[in-house]
Amino acid sequence: MKRIFGLFMIGVMLVSMTACAKNSAGDLPGHTTISIDKKEESIELFAMDTYMTVTAYGNQAKCALQVAETRIRQLERLWSVIDPESELYMVNHSNGVPMDVDKVTSKAISFALSMADRTAGALDPTIYPVLTSWGFTTGSYQIPSQDELDSLLQLVGYDKVLLDGQKITVPEGMQMDLGAVAKGYTADIVMSILKDQGITSALIDLGGNIQTVGYKPDGSKWRVGIKDAYGDGNIGVLTVADCAVVSSGGYERYFIGDDGQTYWHIIDPSTGKPADSGLVSATVVCKEGRLGDALSTALFVMGLQDAETQWRECGDFEMILMTQNNELYITEGLEADFALNQSHDGMPVHVIEK
Ligand code: ADP
Ligand code: MG
Repeated sequence: MKRIFGLFMIGVMLVSMTACAKNSAGDLPGHTTISIDKKEESIELFAMDTYMTVTAYGNQAKCALQVAETRIRQLERLWSVIDPESELYMVNHSNGVPMDVDKVTSKAISFALSMADRTAGALDPTIYPVLTSWGFTTGSYQIPSQDELDSLLQLVGYDKVLLDGQKITVPEGMQMDLGAVAKGYTADIVMSILKDQGITSALIDLGGNIQTVGYKPDGSKWRVGIKDAYGDGNIGVLTVADCAVVSSGGYERYFIGDDGQTYWHIIDPSTGKPADSGLVSATVVCKEGRLGDALSTALFVMGLQDAETQWRECGDFEMILMTQNNELYITEGLEADFALNQSHDGMPVHVIEK
């Protein structure tokens, strides 16, 4: 009896941790509300090695954001590659022994592996040993020798990872890293938490991974700045609603080597070296944050031509690419919603058409 009561109490606690009281019909999905009344609430946190801000509107916002923050912290604890208690750390130290993982971890890994397949390995979640040799995981940067890269590349290959439901087998010596997809995946989860709590208007910013829920409370679209890879400001502004805007670029994390060259944290799995595709940034606009995150990293590795092919063949995203010679390529679906900043007047903008 005690045991049953204990389980019942845990159940009650879980429900109260994940649900907010619905005290306003105006906040229920499907209702139109007088937007001026929508209360703004924000949370700021540092998680997954980045600064995050989530802003939501409505009476349920405060509680919904608390639920979201708890979930972000849980996911961080599952997917950290440096925390010995995390699931991913244990997977990476499993010496080839199959391991059962949480459902959300298995789904995130399954998604990363499917995107690796879709991008012909431009995205490869098993790149971690190579990333470590450059010092990107510790901040002790160095340029690995070609011999070292050659031998580490033997440990890279997403197709060698076995995932069977929630059981994952990573061959001995290989290691995984969800760095290229975790923030987008988390943004999708945050979005569905907010929607479940009745939020119809919110802006999720997980370290530059932007996800917009609905429209702004005044009914207008959100304005999202696209970073200039060569400077502090933005090259332009995208006006969007109900979608994800995710950028990857060499400007996010890099070091200058003794040879004076810049080395960044996005690695081309075919060389083991920082991707040198001619792009300095890739922005993806699509429905899901996870797709945007995976693709922006992959397109940055692929370069302009292969990115165009991916866009034409798949049709589930739009993109803005900035090249090393400071030109912009934008797919036709975004043309009407993008405005170049005055500071970048004269920057060549090419529209990619079907
Ligand atoms: P950011 O995290 O800076 O927003 P990305 O989403 O592009 O940028 O992810 C970069 C991170 O992904 C790196 O820090 C590293 O952990 C990992 N990574 C680097 N290159 C690759 C790659 N080719 N495939 C998969 N993951 C990668
Ligand atoms: Mg990414």
